[in-house]
Amino acid sequence: MKITFSPPYIDDDVISSVEESLRSGWITTGPKVKELEEELERRLGVDACICVNSWTSGATLALRWLGVKEGDEVIVPAYTYCATAMAVIDAGAKPVMVDINDEMTLDVEKMKQAITSKTKAIIPVDLGGQPCAYDKIREIVESEEIKSLFNPENENQEKLGRILILSDSAHSIGAKIGGKNIANLVDICVLSFHAVKNITSAEGGAICLNLETFDNKALKVWYKMMTLNGQTKDAFAKNQAGAWRYDIVAQGMKINMPDVNAAIALAQLKKYDYLLSERKRVYELYRKLLGEYHWAILPQQNIPYIQSSYHLFPLRINPITESQRDELIAELAKREIATNVHYIPMPCLTLFKQAGYKIEDYPKSWDTYKREITLPLYPQLSNLQVEYIVRNVVDAYYKIMDKDIKVI
Ligand SMILES: *Cc1c(COP(=O)(O)O)cnc(C)c1O
Repeated sequence: MKITFSPPYIDDDVISSVEESLRSGWITTGPKVKELEEELERRLGVDACICVNSWTSGATLALRWLGVKEGDEVIVPAYTYCATAMAVIDAGAKPVMVDINDEMTLDVEKMKQAITSKTKAIIPVDLGGQPCAYDKIREIVESEEIKSLFNPENENQEKLGRILILSDSAHSIGAKIGGKNIANLVDICVLSFHAVKNITSAEGGAICLNLETFDNKALKVWYKMMTLNGQTKDAFAKNQAGAWRYDIVAQGMKINMPDVNAAIALAQLKKYDYLLSERKRVYELYRKLLGEYHWAILPQQNIPYIQSSYHLFPLRINPITESQRDELIAELAKREIATNVHYIPMPCLTLFKQAGYKIEDYPKSWDTYKREITLPLYPQLSNLQVEYIVRNVVDAYYKIMDKDIKVI
């Protein structure tokens, strides 16, 4: 039985939605993007969502809105996909990396210690769809002690009056705390619709605005303009007969989402409740089957108050060495089961190593990485396939450990 890691969910509804867009005569940003933005706003309970062409570009634009500049610091976990830090670099600031906790998310105590007068934003990552401790993070950035460190240097920072909380919700579109979506619990939430994510548009993302001291709907107009090179009229409006004149009023980016892509995400979003419940089924079956093994450290059990979007099943194994873990992945690959590692800590990547980040400073990230193997998790997986995967993980694990015991 061949098991792929994370195939996109493409059914007849997705195909019809794309076909409709292709046949409509309008394929770039237009009615489908508008509909997707409105559907996101409704589902997430926020005033303004702006679709873009990736998480990376969306987070970069949000940080540019905040006006971060050289010398400014943005706190990110060391244990994430590199894009979290790349957006900070792209916006012209410095990523300050912080180690993770047992839940594989930002260690809030270490985050607090990392805050300086240069800190302008914090980007917690909802790893695997598991929401971060936003109540604690908010309490810290809103405390007088931390607020007094904040050094506003432009109008937006002045109006915000504290460090910005921007969630990397690339995995967590469906995650909730106390019945509220993540977008409702942070200042700005950025989603990814990359091909392997919960909802996909092939490539894409969305910026969700929930800034208490701002008019988010008015800000949306600015953000939309900035996704189109700072142009006052989008192509759809400009295309109407006679409406040719436009102006460029700011140095924007070119990061708009095409309608053809929005069509894919829109069809998926309309059945997201079903897709999420299927992800939950797979997640819980893994937990049940692997729960029998003392060496299997399972990702968090979800309680009604804190709901994951079941994006990944990050299994940690104890005991295991890094090379045994690699062997386990290779052994499963031989059996045609694709697995993955989330993540290689950023300080282990060349760009960051060269910039002086050292993995020794992030022991928990390293320890998590060397024991981690991510199992396939998507709605299309049948219970039979999940049982098959677990049987093979267990078998491959004992095969590798047995061999190593004999060597000793
Ligand atoms: C996928 C991913 C991103 C980047 O998303 P893009 O849409 O590809 O830019 C950022 N952060 C995390 C945690 C991701 O998994």
